[in-house]
Amino acid sequence: MTINDIKTPSYVIDEDKLIKNLEILQYVQEQSKAKILLAQKAFSAYSMYPLMSKYLAGTSASGLFEAKLGYEEMPNKEVHVFSPAYGEEEIRELVTFCDHIVFNSPAQWNRFKDVVKASGRDIKCGIRINPEYSEIETDIYNPCIVGSRLGTVKSIIDEADIEGISGLHFHTLCEQGADVLARTLDVVEEKFADYLDKLEWINLGGGHHITREDYDVELLISRIKRLKERFNVDVYLEPGEAVALNAGYLVSEVRELMENGMNIAILDTSAACHMPDVIEMPYRPNIIDAGMPKEKAFTYRFGGPTCLAGDIIGDYSFDKPLKVGDRLVFLDMAIYSMVKNNTFNGMPLPSIAVKRGEDVTVIKEFSYEDFKCRL
Ligand SMILES: *Cc1c(COP(=O)(O)O)cnc(C)c1O
Repeated sequence: MTINDIKTPSYVIDEDKLIKNLEILQYVQEQSKAKILLAQKAFSAYSMYPLMSKYLAGTSASGLFEAKLGYEEMPNKEVHVFSPAYGEEEIRELVTFCDHIVFNSPAQWNRFKDVVKASGRDIKCGIRINPEYSEIETDIYNPCIVGSRLGTVKSIIDEADIEGISGLHFHTLCEQGADVLARTLDVVEEKFADYLDKLEWINLGGGHHITREDYDVELLISRIKRLKERFNVDVYLEPGEAVALNAGYLVSEVRELMENGMNIAILDTSAACHMPDVIEMPYRPNIIDAGMPKEKAFTYRFGGPTCLAGDIIGDYSFDKPLKVGDRLVFLDMAIYSMVKNNTFNGMPLPSIAVKRGEDVTVIKEFSYEDFKCRL
């Protein structure tokens, strides 16, 4: 099969593009001696984990289920987990298989350190710091905003008992370059120097857009090397986006055309259900052969087949008028898509396929049961 004859809607993971990204990450690891983990939050299509495990040091997770998925599907690789607040049952299970557990505060660490010790396993425990420095401009993605619950500020760590902690973690970037990381490290290295002098590792979180064309990979490598030399620490990065950036599509079909002051196309895919970040972030995903509104002769507003008025993907223009049955290929749909989709309105979930060369293989299909079983 090719992308032109698979059933729609389908997410299609582009294995060749994924490998290109993984090769860049491997280069960073080789040059800098940092370890890179897959942040599963962005991309958890575990059929690709055997491939990814050839390049990456392991997985990072936002809680028990993701951690378990990484442990099961990327065997013999490191399992790291962070949660803003662990539950008692959750931590009891996590200590049976995790390698690194990052706590959001000294209070969480002190609540659960006995559970960690009782496990008898050599688990590296860390504290997530809030360096109070972030260049993220969108508030919902800014973990350093006033009143943020993510991470602990230095003044509180200074007062706390963190005996038994071996590392620090921060995550304050979002789709950003190595220049932003460099400025963030300037702050972190200065503020937390006394801690880093004594600790064994630091995790620089995610949000590093390492595989984007204009990313300054050499600056990243030099800053990691400097960090390792200055403090003699192991360095971890846990990008999500960068691993599968531009490595997937969502293939959809035009289901109906109509007019209401403008041309409207109703697709068989929904922004609300299949690409929720389009509404949440919000952003306008790119489509192959489509231009900005009015850029080409025929402009359409694309919406999904749900009853939500705001289930709108965006406005796009084309050289030729669209017809019912035309295929549309949305770009960069591997990340934050499959992991976030839902069956609101009883919407069927898109299939998942993998593209190798021109050949496309469907690896997962969903049915009515996937809607019913959750209710
Ligand atoms: C979201 C997240 C990541 C991954 O972020 P990307 O922007 O996808 O690279 C890594 N670590 C933590 C703690 C996160 O919350």
